[in-house]
Amino acid sequence: MPVPGVFTHCPYCALQCGMSLRDAEGQLLVGTRDFPTNRGGLCQKGWTSAELLASPDRLTMPLVRAYRAAPLKPASWDEALARVAAEIRRSQSVYGPDSVAVFGGGGLTNEKAYALGKFARVALGTSNIDYNGRFCMSSAAAAGARAFGVDRGLPFPLPDLAVADTILLVGSNVAETMPPFTRWLSDQQDNGGALVVVDPRQTPTARRATLHLQVTPGTDLALANGLLHIAIAEGHVDEPYIAARTSGFGDVRRVAAAYWPERVERITGVTVAEQRAAVRLLAGAERAMVLTSRGAEQHSKGTDTVSALINLALALGLPGTEGSGYGCLTGQGNGQGGREHGQKADQLPGYRRIDDPAAREHVAAVWGVDPARIPGPGRSAFELLDALGTAGGPRALLVMGSNVAVSAPSSGRIGRRLGSLDFLAVCDLFLSETAASADVVLPVAQWAEESGTMTNLEGRVLLRQRAAVPPPGVRTDLEVIAALALLLDAPGQWNAEPEAVFDELRRASAGGPADYAGISYERIAAEDGVFWPCPAADHPGTPRMFLNAFATPDGRARFVPVEHRPVAEDLDAEYPVYLTTGRLMEHYQSGTQTRRVRALREAQPEPVVEVHPDLAEACRLNEGDRVRVVSRRGAAEVLVRITETVRPDTVFMPFHWGGSSSANLVTNPALDPVSKMPEFKVCAVRLEAVA
Ligand code: SF4
Repeated sequence: MPVPGVFTHCPYCALQCGMSLRDAEGQLLVGTRDFPTNRGGLCQKGWTSAELLASPDRLTMPLVRAYRAAPLKPASWDEALARVAAEIRRSQSVYGPDSVAVFGGGGLTNEKAYALGKFARVALGTSNIDYNGRFCMSSAAAAGARAFGVDRGLPFPLPDLAVADTILLVGSNVAETMPPFTRWLSDQQDNGGALVVVDPRQTPTARRATLHLQVTPGTDLALANGLLHIAIAEGHVDEPYIAARTSGFGDVRRVAAAYWPERVERITGVTVAEQRAAVRLLAGAERAMVLTSRGAEQHSKGTDTVSALINLALALGLPGTEGSGYGCLTGQGNGQGGREHGQKADQLPGYRRIDDPAAREHVAAVWGVDPARIPGPGRSAFELLDALGTAGGPRALLVMGSNVAVSAPSSGRIGRRLGSLDFLAVCDLFLSETAASADVVLPVAQWAEESGTMTNLEGRVLLRQRAAVPPPGVRTDLEVIAALALLLDAPGQWNAEPEAVFDELRRASAGGPADYAGISYERIAAEDGVFWPCPAADHPGTPRMFLNAFATPDGRARFVPVEHRPVAEDLDAEYPVYLTTGRLMEHYQSGTQTRRVRALREAQPEPVVEVHPDLAEACRLNEGDRVRVVSRRGAAEVLVRITETVRPDTVFMPFHWGGSSSANLVTNPALDPVSKMPEFKVCAVRLEAVA
């Protein structure tokens, strides 16, 4: 039963475009809405998103498997929830609290992320909770926190991009992943600004650049150090800014000295002339920005790579200067808020650290429990998944808002780990690949069927308003969490109303780095979102951070010296080609939603591997051939698309499909030592023609 004419936001990426949903003879239709981030624009995913609400694939009743080899069969909610609670109790009575794990998602609302983190710590007493955002933004988050004292994707609003004289965009294909974003780049270029794109592929974003640096995969760090070397050598560093606002430049200057342009050209493939041109564009700009995305971050050295780019930005005096700065373009819908409110293994709400005694005391008081009851830090996402069913690892898993069977690196191995669990429960809209292997599947409401807040890539807290009533038989994630907490006799309050949960989240975040205390549903609706930190109802919010001081103890940003190192798995005779992975315009993440939208499915029905003509000739491959992309971990069978947009030493695969064509069967789970982000962006493969 639709509720017509509601302003809400897109279900997909971190731009969280504003849209309207209106009733047209019983069917919800997407309309535009003049919202400050997308200014009425939507991409094809947004325009077609209402189709999800009427999908025939929708789960509308719980499914339960009597035993591992039995088929999933419809069950009542009472039966399904009782089974989940009983399995949790059984596992914990035999193996202890940590034997039950929770895996969340970067698409969950702030309220759900908060409630899920609280559920894990208070109702289950487990340290084993993490989420798929670990696979997306964690390297930039770690590097931002160690440089500036806090991580907020963009510490400035999107309109600032339009007046930047130069933007250095590293590892981001916004023209395909979030097309309305590119209107800000168009404005910037129309204003005479320069765009420098660093990417191994000639993406649509790279093609619109003033300068495209087609870097060898896995060498962004060396390039950043090399650009800094040139900036220092040519006298472009902002010495007064460095003296007044930073610490640690001496060590970074010493490291950069070893990255002379010819050496950097050998490592990265970016010519000396291109390096110098990039530095000239950055240093000659009055207002300049350095932006990173997954291309820079999804590496076993992703945190250090982002640190190298932040070092460059700091040396040029950009962060904390109005109209300039460093920022990360968060990918998932609530990638930002999802990493602030406690579903991450090492965090409590408000971006507090779980090992900080004062933080534990504050949050425990809001939860109505003894601080000692809150477990310590747990395993990171891949480590958690890789420990499933192993000796000492979790024996039971609850998944909410994630399709780990497709989205985890080395997904064949993770599939086997899921299969070795004693019990798996999944909350989802559809029977995703992960849900299909569960013992209990709980059908939940989706984006437009419930209210909740999201925090977009700018740190702007938004309100997704409910626009439709969920189908009968479906419950919200918050209702599932509250019901399970009740069945498990968890202490404290377990509200399932989003606004009540948000009010509790505000209290839990008060005084923390991501302080939401002054943000209310009313304010968000009236002000087109509120930027955190916002510590009080009469505080205006903080669109631009760091203008006076950074969030470090001494208020100074910290340079961090970092060295280039090779990719975790380099080329050899057996695996002579780099594989890099990414997204297509038509699909989102593991494709659970977008593969069920007709126009998107028809536009991109199955995965391909993009191969340069020279490599295709060497491998005797033709357009449309079926090929196996083989790594040390597994193989994916896909069609060949021949294109000059990839380097001859590199092939590209999108990661939106499961089954035997899944890119993540091949990817490398080598982890960044700081952020624990896997090296999705590069591994060594070979191509084998399929007869
Ligand atoms: Fe906007 Fe992203 Fe949705 Fe496209 S997918 S409409 S860019 S929020």
